[in-house]
This record gives sequence, structure tokens and C-alpha cells, in this order.
Amino acid sequence: AKEAGRNGYQFFMKEMNARVSRRMFLENNLRRALERHEMYLVYQPQIEASTGRVSGVEALVRWNHPEEGLIPPDRFIPVAEDCGLIEPLGAWVLHQACRQLQDWRDDGLDELMMAINISPMQFRKPGFTDTVRSALHSSGVDPRCIELEITETLLMQPLNDLDSRLRELTAMGLTFSLDDFGTGYSSLGYLKRLPISRIKLDKSFVADLPGDVEDEAVTRATLSMAKDLGLHCVAEGVETPAQRDFLSERGCDTLQGYLFARPMPEQECREWIRHHRR
Ligand code: C2E
Ligand code: CA
Ligand code: CA
Ligand code: CA
Repeated sequence: AKEAGRNGYQFFMKEMNARVSRRMFLENNLRRALERHEMYLVYQPQIEASTGRVSGVEALVRWNHPEEGLIPPDRFIPVAEDCGLIEPLGAWVLHQACRQLQDWRDDGLDELMMAINISPMQFRKPGFTDTVRSALHSSGVDPRCIELEITETLLMQPLNDLDSRLRELTAMGLTFSLDDFGTGYSSLGYLKRLPISRIKLDKSFVADLPGDVEDEAVTRATLSMAKDLGLHCVAEGVETPAQRDFLSERGCDTLQGYLFARPMPEQECREWIRHHRR
């Protein structure tokens, strides 16, 4: 038993060491990733449910590591948040996405919205509003075409000037959507109080539609609440025609998911939108 215990401990330490060094590896490499142009954005179309037309895209960051290949954002965004790199990374994403939208518009793709993910920690930095302003200014993009995706997590922790910051950005013309809706547990009071125009039903609720009784209930409740509050609703992770039909029949405004398109690099996305609009 003693032997087994020690083996268990050694195994545990081995695991811990592996995790710590993995983390340090990512952290060290992240610092150089931006300078070395290892990051890029992919764009996933959003479809207006009632007409089938493309209303916008969501920008999603990708890291192509020279030895490791693609590292998913769920793995490196938390590391970037921990080691203070979310600020430069987030600023890069904002600039890049704004520039891309303006580029598409100059190329004749008009009436397109760009949704950009904002990490709670990034939003909380004192310089956030200035970073947004600078991205808008240097790209020349119309702020009304930019939507910032924030999460419930941001609204759950106190931030004294959260309201005023949201309002300042809203006054600049930007809009907000609430990402991963339903996965946190804050009160819904903020939906009424804060300038949020869309909620994004999390893909975990969409996955087992139709058929899963609980997920159907959550979806119906979310859609009816959104309607009553005058908010638009976007469903993410739509993979099947049955999910699309369930959602659009119940009044979901916008759909996003592999059924329509995967997130794509800029050239491919530009072509996809062109083709889709013809
Ligand atoms: P999210 O914002 O909830 O994004 C949705 C995720 O679902 C994306 O994963 C997207 O590629 C994936 N997805 C889209 N359609 C489908 C579908 O039909 N089925 C399934 N199963 N998945 C689908 P991705 O790109 O790996 O991003 C993961 C998360 O990383 C994002 O979740 C977001 O929280 C974060 N993230 C991505 N890009 C950025 C960024 O630029 N800044 C920040 N702060 N976070 C980002
Ligand atoms: Ca998102
Ligand atoms: Ca989500
Ligand atoms: Ca998320």
C-alpha cells in the first residue's frame, strides 16, 4: 500500500510538472507569437434566420505554432489572461478585425457586421476604450458595424464603471452582444439595465435540439425573454437543419454554425460571402 501511495504521489508530481512546463512553454511562446505573425483571424458567417442572408461574421483568433501546429483559443486565451498578454493580443484582434471589415467594405461587401470577442479581463483594463477608439480610427471603419461580444462573467464581478464604460462605447456607435448566454448565473436584471442589443444562446443548449426536453425549455424561455426585452437572439453551434428549423420557427433572429459555414480565413470567407449573396 505504501508503495502504491508513493507511486501515486510520483505520478501526481509528474503530471503537475508536465502541466506547469506546458504552461510555461505556452506563455514564453505567446510573447513572441504576435511579433512573429503566428496569429491570424478566421471569420464565421452569421445568417439572418428569416431571409437566409449573411448579416455579419464573428472573428475568431487562431494560433499557428511553428512546431505544434494549430493551438485552439480555449487553450491559449486563459494563459494570455494569466500572464498579462491578453491586452496586446486583444488589441491586435480589434485592429485586425476592424481593418478586415473595412477592407471587405472597400471591396464591395457592404451591410456586413463584424462581431469581436472581448475577454472580461481585457474589458476591465483602464486603456480598453482607447484601444477600441484607436482600432476604429486607424481602420476608418463605421463603429455601427462593430459588435463587441462580452460574457456574463464580466457582468458577474463588480466593476464600478462597467455601466459608464458600456455607455461610452455605445455612444461611440458600437453595439454589444452577450456571449455564452445561459452558462453563467447572474441575475437577469442587467439585461434591462445595460446597453446590450443581442444575446447569444450558447451552443451547449443548441447541441441536443430538438428532442432534449430541458434544452428545448431553456431555448424557448431565452427566445421569449429576448423578445419581451426587445433583444435580438443569435444561436451558435447550429449544425443540423432540424436545429435551424426549431430555432427559426421559435423566432431566433440569427443563426451561426457549421450547417452554414465553418470559421474561414479571410480570402475564403470573402469568396463565401460573395457567392452566398449572388
Ligand atoms: P465562442 O465565442 O463561444 O465561439 C464559439 C466557438 O464555437 C468557436 O470555437 C467556433 O469555432 C465554434 N463553433 C462554431 N460553429 C460551431 C458548430 O456548429 N459546432 C460546434 N461544435 N462548434 C462551433 P473557437 O474558435 O475554438 O473559439 C473558442 C472560444 O475561444 C470562443 O468561444 C471564445 O470564447 C474564445 N475566443 C476565440 N477567439 C477569441 C478572440 O479573438 N478573443 C477572445 N477574447 N476570445 C476568443
Ligand atoms: Ca463569441
Ligand atoms: Ca459559446
Ligand atoms: Ca466563450
